[in-house]
Amino acid sequence: FAPWLDPSAVPLIRFENVVKRFGDFVAVDNVSIDIHQREFFALLGPSGCGKTTLMRMLAGFEAPTSGRITLAGKDLAGVPPYRRPVNMMFQSYALFPHMTVAQNIAFGLKQDNIGKAEIETRVKEMLRLVKLEAFGARKPHQLSGGQRQRVALARSLAKRPKVLLLDEPLGALDKKLREETQFELMDLQQELGLTFMIVTHDQEEAMVVADRIAVMNHGKLVQVATPGEIYEQPNCRYVADFIGDINIFDATVTGAEVGGTRLKSAEVGADFVAAGDASAVAGTEVALAIRPEKMRISTEPPPADATNVLKGEVWDIAYLGDWTTLLVKVEGSEKIVRVSRANMTRSEARPIGWDDKVFVWFAPDAGILLAA
Ligand code: ATP
Repeated sequence: FAPWLDPSAVPLIRFENVVKRFGDFVAVDNVSIDIHQREFFALLGPSGCGKTTLMRMLAGFEAPTSGRITLAGKDLAGVPPYRRPVNMMFQSYALFPHMTVAQNIAFGLKQDNIGKAEIETRVKEMLRLVKLEAFGARKPHQLSGGQRQRVALARSLAKRPKVLLLDEPLGALDKKLREETQFELMDLQQELGLTFMIVTHDQEEAMVVADRIAVMNHGKLVQVATPGEIYEQPNCRYVADFIGDINIFDATVTGAEVGGTRLKSAEVGADFVAAGDASAVAGTEVALAIRPEKMRISTEPPPADATNVLKGEVWDIAYLGDWTTLLVKVEGSEKIVRVSRANMTRSEARPIGWDDKVFVWFAPDAGILLAA
């Protein structure tokens, strides 16, 4: 049972009402998060939302203006960075160019006055861990970007921290290498049983590596949940829009029925019905969000019992190999909706193409009802 799903489990790291101001500017605004041992935790948000500042406070490079950070129950206030069982790997790997890979990995250990034999053992262990056994004698400039990244990782793990902080660790790698390295990071974290906290603005990266994701905006924590929950049940329009592709319709509640809400969307001139919360009051402005893969599309009229039907014209086709999205311009509106091509009805003999007149529809339980 994952400890982060168990409310009674004792968290390893606790941010309690943490605030960080730089002058009048509030970079981190009253953030409380519990992070558990062995958890891979991601801080996700656009540039400037305060994620790095939050991480730097845990590392001890910044002090909170107010609030408290504890590690295994111990208040970290006043504890200098090198005394914290936390290590941070930076965006720029900052390897020493004149030192070999092995010397780079050993650097922090020497500073901690660890014995020579022990250092040798740990360097070997780290080289094995990051699959660079044969590269110990090389200088950083003789390595690829991915290999340099692994040396930096080995160096930050050599001190055996309880918590590893990763600030955009894969930012300098190309897409393919980044994806491979994401899996290596996950393996490493599993093998070592450590707690990892990663800062990223890449939502796919957070979805792949993390057990839980904290989405931040303007210094505030917006949602903390597993990748699945964040994707399936975003708690607000901001999260829905930030994670993955989604269609969002502005709408007004017109009434409720058993297990559902009736809506009218002036934006697309359509009536909708959404499952779930039927407590919304008529006249309330809301947003109805639907993932492209939950929308059906056909050139034929939909079945008689279909709900939430829109008419439109195929405006563009985004081909991504394993994934194709049809962009449909809704009739009588400027709205473009995204529909996964996989959801074309089977009866369709010919693939739907550019400019085709189409029907698009979705089930009441496919929609996510959000505050406007
Ligand atoms: P990025 O992804 O671009 O690194 P971030 O979400 O990590 O962004 P932070 O680096 O935490 O953002 O910065 C949050 C805000 O605080 C930014 O607006 C930044 O300009 C501001 N800030 C950070 N450090 C300082 C500082 N030392 N003095 C003044 N303002 C700062």
